[in-house]
Amino acid sequence: MTVSCEIIKDLLPLYHDDVCSRDSKAMVEAHLANCESCKAELQAMDEVLLINNTEQNLKEADAVKNLSKKWKRGMLRSLLKGALFAFLTAVIIAVVLYMFIGIKIVR
Ligand SMILES: [Zn+2]
Repeated sequence: MTVSCEIIKDLLPLYHDDVCSRDSKAMVEAHLANCESCKAELQAMDEVLLINNTEQNLKEADAVKNLSKKWKRGMLRSLLKGALFAFLTAVIIAVVLYMFIGIKIVR
């Protein structure tokens, strides 16, 4: 049975995603063994998918980077807030202690 390249090219996306029937798969494989142009077509599909995946990964990596940048900025801000709060607390304690000791001294 000879199958035209047109039919194989119709089936290639299904074959590539492994969603065609076993018979179609066997037919595509038999054709690919003898047909360079369809083999190249399949390879091109692999490459396109690879590029898409790489782009996807890059986008995801960027998103993660942005997220961690934001997170770091938030951390820094809360760290500064914490430091300010600790400083103010220390000042209040110092003032209270000073007043307390001052009162004692006066007495
Ligand atoms: Zn072919």
